[in-house]
Amino acid sequence: MMLDGTLCAGCGVFDENMEPGAGFPQLCDDCLADPETARAWGREPLLPGVGTLWKHHSGRIYRVMLIANGFTEHPDRYPITVIYEGVVNKRIWAKSLERFYKTMKPEEE
Ligand SMILES: [Zn+2]
Repeated sequence: MMLDGTLCAGCGVFDENMEPGAGFPQLCDDCLADPETARAWGREPLLPGVGTLWKHHSGRIYRVMLIANGFTEHPDRYPITVIYEGVVNKRIWAKSLERFYKTMKPEEE
């Protein structure tokens, strides 16, 4: 039996969705979603998809409208920023990618 998957270089957790032969280092989705960890391993951080729904820990649901500075080479000066809208009240907010991931969880459609 072939064993699929490999260890995450960031947290050491075994992930069956990562391919053993696809090069090193490989990072799990959790580590890729953490901009600091992703960059420490020379990877671009995973960005939330435009149009996807996220739940704030307050319980409110938001939809990602766009990502600003997504291709920045100077994240210190141009931090990757998520622009998102309240699904109910249509109020628009912006948050750094780091803070977005700290306070939002993906919401099933
Ligand atoms: Zn990991």
